[in-house]
Amino acid sequence: PTQPYDDNNIFARILRGELPSKTVYEDDSALAFHDINPLAPVHILVIPKGSYVSWDDFSQKASDAEIAGFIRAVGKVAREEGLVAQGYRVLANIGMRGGQEVPHLHAHIFGGEPLGPMLA
Ligand code: 5GP
Repeated sequence: PTQPYDDNNIFARILRGELPSKTVYEDDSALAFHDINPLAPVHILVIPKGSYVSWDDFSQKASDAEIAGFIRAVGKVAREEGLVAQGYRVLANIGMRGGQEVPHLHAHIFGGEPLGPMLA
């Protein structure tokens, strides 16, 4: 079973406007903003607006509309950032042992440089 959602995680606070973020895209179901500690020239996080801990949680509980909105938002951000021609990477860490530090589902978008076979 997944851990319960923590309403005070950093991304929940960003969604509520309690913490600032550099927003690059927003629609009804998703928000995208620059990572505070970029690991590539372009490093953007895309999150669903709903309260989902992880990919596992989201893929079981979210509506089809929320899932579609999130996936489409990732693609739209990449296009708007000009990443399609040069290539980019989408990555989600899931669970503590998967390297997930913030317990609200997020997709990392990396780009702006040749990425090689794996980032790290
Ligand atoms: P994870 O390890 O959970 O997959 O990634 C969490 C990411 O969130 C990290 O890349 C980290 O730099 C980023 N991050 C942590 N706190 C903040 C914050 O307050 N604002 C923003 N924009 N990014 C954050």
